[in-house]
Amino acid sequence: CGIVGYIGENQAGPILLDGLSKLEYRGYDSAGIAVYDGSEIKMTKSTGRLKVLEELTHGGETMPGTSGIGHTRWATHGAPTDTNAHPHFNKDRSIVVVHNGIIENYIKLKKKLQSKGYEFISDTDTEVVAHLLDYYYKGDPLETVTKIMNRVEGSYALGIMFLDHPDELYAVRKDSPLIVGHAEGGNLIASDVPAVLKYTRRVYFIENEEVVVLKKDSMTFYNIDAEEIEKEPVTIEWDI
Ligand code: GLU
Repeated sequence: CGIVGYIGENQAGPILLDGLSKLEYRGYDSAGIAVYDGSEIKMTKSTGRLKVLEELTHGGETMPGTSGIGHTRWATHGAPTDTNAHPHFNKDRSIVVVHNGIIENYIKLKKKLQSKGYEFISDTDTEVVAHLLDYYYKGDPLETVTKIMNRVEGSYALGIMFLDHPDELYAVRKDSPLIVGHAEGGNLIASDVPAVLKYTRRVYFIENEEVVVLKKDSMTFYNIDAEEIEKEPVTIEWDI
């Protein structure tokens, strides 16, 4: 339901929690964040209010690191449980995903992946995205992300981190809103503008089947064929 991402010079945890709090108005049943700590991707997630996540992470302090993704979930597939909360990992925790929307062909994809030996720990449609990325990943995140866009049907806004590309975040969407914001000392992903307004007014609205590669000091945009495209930022004039 709500997505945030941050990569920059500052601690990601508090920024992710703050961004999620600005998306609370949309409603949710669980929340979680994943932060790269310099060697691993650490994750904390729970059902309940954001306050629970804030307490579990001491306001983000127990999850040090300068890049991460966060989510507030409004369950569509799978009950609201801690395990079904986002983020979702691949098997060796080297790829992590947050997702808004519904993967319409998730049963078909799940069966295919299970036949290849993938084990699912949640009941969500989202988990297929994590394993599908794993299945196609050969070391080039952009190639893999565009590949799964051709396999996944339905609606999605995704924030993705790859452990072996720790200085990048990936954002992609189809039929579910997503923006990226360019801030002083870092860049942000969000499913809606209020999550980033504290940090920047300079945002880019991601169109269907566009991919963004965010680094701490740059954002590069691609189409579904992994060709670089130009986009113009919009300056947000309104306040929350
Ligand atoms: N379909 C996903 C799930 O149920 C995402 C729901 C959402 O947009 O929050 O986990």
